[in-house]
Amino acid sequence: MMSEDNHVEPSEHALTIPTCHHFDQLETEAAPLGSACERCLAMGDTWVHLRSCLYCGLVGCCDDSKNKHARAHFEADGHPLVQSIEPGESWKYCFADHFLAR
Ligand SMILES: [Zn+2]
Ligand SMILES: [Zn+2]
Ligand SMILES: [Zn+2]
Repeated sequence: MMSEDNHVEPSEHALTIPTCHHFDQLETEAAPLGSACERCLAMGDTWVHLRSCLYCGLVGCCDDSKNKHARAHFEADGHPLVQSIEPGESWKYCFADHFLAR
């Protein structure tokens, strides 16, 4: 019987850098479709920060917001890449890989 012990030394794990191939496969980054979370507006709710989907441009609210519409869009439509559209911020994020790109 095979042992299930796939033990890896902690030191090897610590050096593992998260990787994401979604950015490589993305041909064109979609521009943000707006400057508000339409789903929150429709519900009469507010948000904290806005993210824009790099695949289709849908604008949704961040994980600090009550409704987390950017993440909901990823879970519903499978679009993992977003960018921050907050003034002065230019980072991008992959929900699938928990990968932050600057
Ligand atoms: Zn990814
Ligand atoms: Zn929202
Ligand atoms: Zn999208």
